[in-house]
Amino acid sequence: GLEIRLASRPKGWPTLENFDIVEVEAPQPGDGELLVRNLLMSVDPYMRGRMSAAKSYTPPYEIGKAMEGGAVGEVVASNAEGFQPGDIVRHLRGWRDYAVVGAKQATKVDPQAAPLSTYLYVLGMPGMTAYVGLVDVAEQKEGDVVFISGAAGAVGSLAGQIAKLRGASRVIGSAGSAEKVRYLLDEVGFDAAFNYHDGPVAEQLNAAAPDGIDVYFDNVGGEHLEAAIDALNDFGRVAECGMISQYNIAEPEPGPRNMFMLVAKRLRLEGFIVGDRAHLKDQFVAEVGGWLREGKINYRETVVDGLRNAPEAFLGLMRGDNIGKMLVKIA
Ligand code: NDP
Repeated sequence: GLEIRLASRPKGWPTLENFDIVEVEAPQPGDGELLVRNLLMSVDPYMRGRMSAAKSYTPPYEIGKAMEGGAVGEVVASNAEGFQPGDIVRHLRGWRDYAVVGAKQATKVDPQAAPLSTYLYVLGMPGMTAYVGLVDVAEQKEGDVVFISGAAGAVGSLAGQIAKLRGASRVIGSAGSAEKVRYLLDEVGFDAAFNYHDGPVAEQLNAAAPDGIDVYFDNVGGEHLEAAIDALNDFGRVAECGMISQYNIAEPEPGPRNMFMLVAKRLRLEGFIVGDRAHLKDQFVAEVGGWLREGKINYRETVVDGLRNAPEAFLGLMRGDNIGKMLVKIA
């Protein structure tokens, strides 16, 4: 099978040269381990952080070693109690055809209950991120006006729908193309949406939210964050989920110029990492799983075919090629 290794660390925008595609022997599982044939994997923005050596909340990928990330696969051999060949598991050793996975790092999923992609998307890490960001971090309340950047992506499109289902009075989204704006308005149920390439974010946000916003779910940072701080009403809350506009720039940009507004308007801006909120897992699965079964969640996937094309899928994610979740079909 193949595995994809980090060949070098990108400076600024990553390129295909940062990846190596290598043919390897199928690994052997040790005691308490499974051999998994991967079927589907996720590419995610946090992987850009792990390609760099900078200290962050997850350790950097090592040069010359296979990369890692969320994946779903079929157990082909098991040296662990409770797992059998044929079981479908979710784990964190994507970027390869065959993965050795410690049984403790594998979660059995039910391929009959939902498509495999559900476990990497709506009921997986991006869905949980959208949920805890809104509910726990931003403490979204009924009647709030909610603004979401990166709104046509995996986390953003779910955050918008969760906000609406939890009683937001108005949900506004920004995204990077006219097609994405149409998707948000016509299919996802956003009340307003704009293309941030069409003009200054502050102007477009003010037009979409004439009475201001109460919650900002930030996926983008930079100009979006400054505009949101201006638009927030007194006691507004910001769930600081990500800042993708900053991930590929070689030199850090100055931050928002209006930070004093945090004082003047008594705003709360809080960063979070989804992994720290595991205590909300059951609540998330019950609430969002319920909406999913009732057909209340619209989710779109952009699926790239073949492990060989995973680096290109990752670069496409950075460029905004995806609507909804970017996934790679391995087998
Ligand atoms: P998405 O599916 O949203 O894909 C990334 C999107 O970012 C692209 O489609 C692109 O859409 C947009 N983008 C790229 N560059 C820029 C830019 N310069 N300005 C504005 N938008 C840009 O990814 P995810 O849903 O997986 O992740 C969304 C955010 O959530 C990221 O910031 C990520 O780091 C964060 N995250 C945080 C977690 C946490 O625990 N805190 C967990 C998971 C994700 P467009 O065409 O609109 O530009």
